[in-house]
Amino acid sequence: MDQATALVALSDKDLEITRATKRLDELPEKQAILDLRHKMREIEALSAKAATYVAQLEAAQRRAEDEIATIAAKIAAEQTKVDSGAISNHKELQSLSREIDSLSRQKDKRENELLTQMEKLEAGKAQAEKIASTVEKARAKEAQLIAQFQKVGGDLQADIEKLKKQRVSLAKVLDTELLQRYESLRAAKHGLGVGILKGSMCSACRIDLPSERVMALTDGGPIGECPSCHRLLVVHQGDRT
Ligand SMILES: [Zn+2]
Repeated sequence: MDQATALVALSDKDLEITRATKRLDELPEKQAILDLRHKMREIEALSAKAATYVAQLEAAQRRAEDEIATIAAKIAAEQTKVDSGAISNHKELQSLSREIDSLSRQKDKRENELLTQMEKLEAGKAQAEKIASTVEKARAKEAQLIAQFQKVGGDLQADIEKLKKQRVSLAKVLDTELLQRYESLRAAKHGLGVGILKGSMCSACRIDLPSERVMALTDGGPIGECPSCHRLLVVHQGDRT
């Protein structure tokens, strides 16, 4: 196959791949997967927040429990002094008793606060579990959508794979320099890197070229450049190169 024919075939193949990929991307199942993934990111962020909240509440609960244990130990120590009978001074006993009362009130207060914290923690845990189950359900739904997409898009994907293989064979026919030029033009010019001279018109930009330009092109090699869009312009196909 000559360079010009291979170039036109490669360009046609690339357009086919682009169209098939677009069809695949536009399948409703694909959009549904993308939408779901967007929602999943939001839910996962929420889940991370809930986990942090629960961890903070757990730490606060441990601190409160430690504090209550410390107060209880103080009370027990004071009570031991009272019970030992070693203190006979009435004033000292009274003062100890007041101290025990004060500590007991502190302990009651802390215990009430702890109860409130525990309720908050339970609510937080329930919320976190609810979010986790939502994440799980969303993952199951995603797997289901992917299976559906693969079923519907499977044929299309197989077509694209086949086209890509054919593309590789065509690309091998082209000289390295020509292929590189084609690739960079394709990237720069919305996926279309080659035009064909049809009469006096470039098939890519559809501009009617002045006759002296057309003459210069037809007198030149099989592959020129469109003076208007600067894409590669195939002038003759089937020439021996
Ligand atoms: Zn052109």
